[in-house]
Amino acid sequence: MTVRLHDTMAGATRELVPLEPGHVRIYTCGPTVYSTAHVGNFRAFIFGDLLVRYLRFRAYQVTWVMNVTDVDDRIIKGAHRENVTIFELSEKYRKLLVADMETLGIHMPDVMPKATDNIPQMVELIEALLEKGHAYRTDDGSIFFRISSWPDYGRLARIDPQGMRVGERVEADEYGKDDVRDFALWKGPKPDEPSWDTAVGPGRPGWHIECSAMSMRYLGQSFDIHTGGIDLIFPHHTDEIAQSEAATGKKFVNYWLHNAFLQLGSQKMAKSLGNIERVADIVARGVPRRALRLALMSAHYRAPLSFGEDSIQAATSAIERLDALFAALTAYRTDGPDDSALPQLLEETRAGIEAALDDDLNVSPALAAMFELVRELNRRLDARTLSTADAARATGFLRDLDRIFGIAPAGEPALPAELQKLLDERSTAREARDWAASDRLRTVLAEHGILVEDTRDGQRWRRDD
Ligand SMILES: [Zn+2]
Repeated sequence: MTVRLHDTMAGATRELVPLEPGHVRIYTCGPTVYSTAHVGNFRAFIFGDLLVRYLRFRAYQVTWVMNVTDVDDRIIKGAHRENVTIFELSEKYRKLLVADMETLGIHMPDVMPKATDNIPQMVELIEALLEKGHAYRTDDGSIFFRISSWPDYGRLARIDPQGMRVGERVEADEYGKDDVRDFALWKGPKPDEPSWDTAVGPGRPGWHIECSAMSMRYLGQSFDIHTGGIDLIFPHHTDEIAQSEAATGKKFVNYWLHNAFLQLGSQKMAKSLGNIERVADIVARGVPRRALRLALMSAHYRAPLSFGEDSIQAATSAIERLDALFAALTAYRTDGPDDSALPQLLEETRAGIEAALDDDLNVSPALAAMFELVRELNRRLDARTLSTADAARATGFLRDLDRIFGIAPAGEPALPAELQKLLDERSTAREARDWAASDRLRTVLAEHGILVEDTRDGQRWRRDD
């Protein structure tokens, strides 16, 4: 079995063959940090996270780079709006973004480069393009990519550069272009705008060149996978390909993966949530963060995901079922023998999940297979056909799968030694039927914020919070 991914360039699903065997290099177009990210923005990052987690689960080494765009028109406008520098503005929203990513259980990318830390790399690319005749300067110090010099332009978006009509409305700051289709690599200096003094003159980079420079710096001139929302296919990724391949003469990216949008749901959600669409606000409203992650992950990345009260409800009850199973498995004790059918059940579940995810990360049947296992384990717990060791085995299996999904409850953190000692003493007291000692220890533990409950499977504790 091999992983197959849908490549927008090929218009087909292709087997993943990394340039370096066993090592997959991935670049995700990150956010422009000019305001708080909308929950819809996180679909692209959750998709990137699922892709990376799954490839690591399949024993690939993965290098994942996601940039942060901290200089562009929106950043400059935002800084004027909030009366701060672009650095203050972007740092504020970058921190909020990272906090939201942590809330959603997104593993941090290996590198999260900022555009402003990579200006020399952008300038180097622009110099190469000028040298090779793919770029030209205009009177105001801007530099444009000459689309007519690159016959392959537009293949990703399946547009014919000859018939291209987009961009006919010339931006006010882009007059002087030779051709309306050409795009800015470098923008000449303007009053009230940040500017860098560089080998190609003063000014600031265009947005597209930022991603080419950062991806190639950290992943090489050719790398495996580039991801982003479908809205980035044109012009952003189309321009990235043209300028990168024209500068290096090499194929830029082997697989282009694009995720569909999040559709903000029904009337119902609009009514109860108002305009609250930020991750922190949704969680503050009481939606468990793992439920929010599950809701954002639950549809195939290329299908529109409708997000609203219904999907949050469904995800919340799924998380509750999962938590209840973990608690029950942890508490389960029996003297009975092993369930001889359990290994096969677990193996079939794993095979089903891998088959689904190998098929272009088809997450819905993969999640369905996992929750079918949850139901099946509950049936066996109720019928008490599992052994104590089986319960531990099932927990370990679910934890292993959770490297992919990231929705399981956190493992119970160890108690301080003195509290664990009190718990052990209470357990011993109960075995000796010393109810007075047992009750006294329960009270002492409660004073330390540990609530003890006695079940068929012995004493269980939880933190009082
Ligand atoms: Zn990008």
